[in-house]
Amino acid sequence: MRQQRPPVEIDRDLCVGHGRCYNKAPGLFYADDMGLGHVKDVIDDNATPPDLARIIRACPESAIHLTATS
Ligand code: SF4
Repeated sequence: MRQQRPPVEIDRDLCVGHGRCYNKAPGLFYADDMGLGHVKDVIDDNATPPDLARIIRACPESAIHLTATS
């Protein structure tokens, strides 16, 4: 079953394309043609449950943030 977009966002002003997000969690993130990270709208079927705290900590630029949930 497909899952909804993960509750994170990438600050476009901070992301410089280290690639740790999409290398550690390719089911949640992808790279554009500049190597910058983006959050997928839908989590891949075969993605392992995301450890978002670990992924957030892994970004050297602190560009990944939790989004507010209602
Ligand atoms: S790890 Fe951080 S800086 Fe690198 S691509 Fe992902 S969001 Fe951007």
